[in-house]
Amino acid sequence: MKKTYLSNRVANLKPSGIRRFFEIAATMEEVISLGIGEPDFDSPPAILAAGKRALEQNKTHYTSNRGIMPLREALAETIQNLYGVRYHAADEVLTTVGGSEALVVACQALLDPGDEIILPTPCFVSYQGVISLVGGVSVEVPSTMENNFMPDPDRLEQAITPRTKAILLNFPCNPTGAVADKKTLMAIGAIAEKHDLIVISDEIYDRLVYGTSHVSFPSLSGMRDRTILIGGFSKDYAMTGWRIGFVCAPAHMMKGIAVVHQYIIMTAPTMSQYAALEGLRCCEEDVQRMVQEYDRRRRSIVAGLNYIGLPTFEPRGAFYAFPKVSVTGLDDETFAERLLQEKHVAVVPGSAFGPGGEGFVRCSYATAFDQIEEALDRIDQFVKSL
Ligand code: PMP
Repeated sequence: MKKTYLSNRVANLKPSGIRRFFEIAATMEEVISLGIGEPDFDSPPAILAAGKRALEQNKTHYTSNRGIMPLREALAETIQNLYGVRYHAADEVLTTVGGSEALVVACQALLDPGDEIILPTPCFVSYQGVISLVGGVSVEVPSTMENNFMPDPDRLEQAITPRTKAILLNFPCNPTGAVADKKTLMAIGAIAEKHDLIVISDEIYDRLVYGTSHVSFPSLSGMRDRTILIGGFSKDYAMTGWRIGFVCAPAHMMKGIAVVHQYIIMTAPTMSQYAALEGLRCCEEDVQRMVQEYDRRRRSIVAGLNYIGLPTFEPRGAFYAFPKVSVTGLDDETFAERLLQEKHVAVVPGSAFGPGGEGFVRCSYATAFDQIEEALDRIDQFVKSL
C-alpha cells in the first residue's frame, strides 16, 4: 500500500456519513434535499447591511483575540436576559469561527491524551472526530426513541471511569430534535458535581424551540462554574457562511481556551463579528419569523411521516425530524440510498450519528414548505413500493 505520511490520528478518522450522501445527490437531477443541516433562509437584511458597512469602513484587520468588546458585551447581555446566567464580557466570553471552532478549542483545552468524554448519542457528526483529533476518547451512551431521546442519567453515570473529564450535551439536539427537560438536566448536573466533571453544552440551536422553552445548562444551580457553553449564529440567525460562534466559560477555564484559540485561529472573522453584533441588537423579529416558519414545516413533516407509517418522535427543537425507518424492513443506510436513487429525496442515515441512530433517518426541515410536501409524497410512494 502507498505510504500516506498521515498521522495515525488522521489516518484512522472516518469521513462523515453525511458527505457521502451529498456526493451521490450532487450527481443527480431534481433531488429534494432533506439532508442538509443549514437554514434555507438568507441572513436577515440588517445583518447583511452591517457586514457590508464593516467592509466599507475597512474593518478588515485582526480584532482582539477574543473578539470585539461590543459583541462580547452583547452576548453576555443576551445570555443573561434569556437564561439569567451572568458572564463577564472581558474574561469569560470568546468569539470563534462558528460553533465548530468553539467545540475544538473547548475539547483541546480540556483533554489530555486518553481522557474520556461521555457522549450521549445519536449526536452531531463532528463530535467523535474532534474528540479523537485532540487525543481524547468518546464514550458513547445511546438514547432511545422510547425515552424521547433523552440521555438516561444512570447509564451516563455507569460510563464514568477514572479517565472521564467531561460530558458533552447538545440540546436542542442534532439529529433528533429533542429538547432536554429540566429534571434530566438537573440529574446530569448532580452526576457532574458528584464526579467532579465538566459539562460542555452545545446550545447552538437554543432559539429554535417550538411550544416549549430551552433550559440553558449553566443556568442550573451550581452548574455555571463547571460548564463550557458553546453557541453560534449559523442556525438561529441563518449565518452559516459568516463563520461566527462563541464560547462562554468561567474565567479559569477560559484562560486556557483563549490561548488555544489564539494559537490556532487568532480572531474570528472581523466583518462577521460586526454582522453578528447587529443580529443580537436588531434581528429578534427575523429570528421569530424563521422560528414560526420552521414550526409550520415541523408540524407538517412530523404528521406526514407518521401518516406514511414511519413512527416519528415529536421534535421540539432544532430543524430535524428523526423517523424510524426500520419498520419498513430496510436498514437506515439502504432506506436512504434507495430513497435517493428511486425517488430523488436525500435524507441522512441515522447510523451516521452514532449508536442509537441505526434504524432512523434524519430529515431536515430547513427547506421550503412545498419541497417538504413534495418530499413527503415521494417518501409515501417509496414506502408503499416496498
Ligand atoms: N453544533 C451542532 C450541534 C451543529 O449541528 C453544528 C452545525 N451543523 C455546529 C455545532 C457547528 O455549526 P457552525 O460551525 O456553523 O457554527
